[in-house]
Amino acid sequence: MARIPDSFIAALKERVDIRDVISTEVELKRGGRTWVGLCPFHNERSPSFHVWEDHFYCFGCQAGGDAISYIMKKENLGYVDAIEELAGRYGLTVPKEGQEDALSRLRLRILSANRAAARFFHAQLRIQAPDGRQYWNAENPGYQYWKKRRLSDEIIVHFGLGYAPAGWDALRSHLLGEGFSLEELVAANLVIKHERDGRISYYDAFRNRVMVPILDLRGNVIAFGGRVLDDSKPKYVNTSDTPVYRKGNDLFALNFAKNGKTKKLILCEGYMDAIALHAHGFTQAVACLGTALTDRQASLLSRYAEEITLCYDADEAGRNAAKKALAVLEKTQIKTRVIQLDGGKDPDEILNTHGPEKFRALLENTSNDIEFKLLTAREGFDLTATAGKQDYLRRAAQILSYQDAITADLYSSRLAEELEVRKESLLAMIQSHRAARKKKSERDFEQFTPPVMPKNKVSLDRTRAEFPAEAAAEEKIIGTLVAHPDVYLTVGGILNTAHFATTLNRRLLEGLLPRLAEGVEVEIPYLHEIFNEAELSELARMQEEALRMTNPAKLCQDGIEKLRQLFEKREQLRTVFSDDTQFREAFRRNGRLPGAS
Ligand SMILES: [Zn+2]
Repeated sequence: MARIPDSFIAALKERVDIRDVISTEVELKRGGRTWVGLCPFHNERSPSFHVWEDHFYCFGCQAGGDAISYIMKKENLGYVDAIEELAGRYGLTVPKEGQEDALSRLRLRILSANRAAARFFHAQLRIQAPDGRQYWNAENPGYQYWKKRRLSDEIIVHFGLGYAPAGWDALRSHLLGEGFSLEELVAANLVIKHERDGRISYYDAFRNRVMVPILDLRGNVIAFGGRVLDDSKPKYVNTSDTPVYRKGNDLFALNFAKNGKTKKLILCEGYMDAIALHAHGFTQAVACLGTALTDRQASLLSRYAEEITLCYDADEAGRNAAKKALAVLEKTQIKTRVIQLDGGKDPDEILNTHGPEKFRALLENTSNDIEFKLLTAREGFDLTATAGKQDYLRRAAQILSYQDAITADLYSSRLAEELEVRKESLLAMIQSHRAARKKKSERDFEQFTPPVMPKNKVSLDRTRAEFPAEAAAEEKIIGTLVAHPDVYLTVGGILNTAHFATTLNRRLLEGLLPRLAEGVEVEIPYLHEIFNEAELSELARMQEEALRMTNPAKLCQDGIEKLRQLFEKREQLRTVFSDDTQFREAFRRNGRLPGAS
């Protein structure tokens, strides 16, 4: 099979909207956090075919996968043909073999250059004593800056914060010494190439700035943010687009926040705010990177968050940015709130002057958020006209329908008085919104009953029926690794393929391991060469379940531990029953050793 380079698949994935692809053939309706329709792969009257931002899954027939799988199944095409078909629809040409491999290689080189640069910037904050021991360098302007922001050494290490020295070539000489080429450093946007009158010169992109490495969800360093130490301009310099980074695609600190205890994330304007929040224990904070919130970031957030609290500056600019972000988030249907920063212009100031307790109180105070929403909503309506007034009331009723009864009642009184309408009619509108939502969520719940393995699927893996407890633990492990590949960094060392009891899951893990170890993509679009359709569909299901779980690292570790225990029990049984058939029979009858508790 001709190999299609990862870099091309990445570009295709970037371009393709699976909902567009599917909705040309299937009528899709919003249903909770997915789009739902009648499955094109089996006959059904009530919809069980769900589409997420990048994959689909049918709870009726277990068909699932990404846009490429969809085309393969629907058009009955092979992998390469399906990619060509899909690329054609989006005006892209599939590269000839070898042609794009250079780009994949470059992506990997840029990632290692970025990692080396992050280490270099961080090392500037340290000093080595003659005895070889490392100390923090209190003389370093970068270290002094971070200390001025009251960050602990632990937080500096946690985020890998650093300092880019003044001068034009400190980083360049260091990285050239580590074996990177000038072309690679320019492609990584670490070094700027300057051309004037036919003369070419090179200089470091970041000079005399404190440095913040930007990590993707797998823990790769994909870009940097650099801030000046004083008030000079430009205040922030960020990596521009490179083959591994595109502005507006990623969120700062989501790699940490997504693994936290809460699915209620805080969205800040900048990484400095997010770092300050993490430093005070609000590890659910994430931030945009040098752009207003994009659709892409919002849909990324919707994967990991159930609720978003916007934490934007208290000034005019912050309010406007919050308004725009709310409009973007509205499309995802995640619940949103807005924090009103009383007592400081930004979160950093509030945390440092009033402490985390004050911030927690602001975070928990939701009443202001209604006011903000009502105020924002009314800007679009002409309240002097009857029609405008009615439209605004309808919108207000919708907003209030999310509040508790007392709050809704309180605001209804105010609005009724102000707009001279009867309070009862407003309350009735609120009630009808609630009823409609309740009905919808009941329907969603019915659709989300856990998928049942149909009989014909069991033939895919006979061993699964024999080892149900093992299969469940294995699925948790595999699902988490695909949904949260960075978990591999934590569990890679304790993962043991030999403990896997079912044939299919073991094959899935063995296919994934080399990619996880290399830190390359393990999303479904990249896996067509390793797995067949049925296997990809199973992966999609496992991933989907893992995405709904909080604390994936813990989930994965528990799965591994459980599997180890089950393995040891099996081994004990094996020593008792030397004959394989006897062993299987004994195991089936009694999953544990006779007499063992
Ligand atoms: Zn189906």
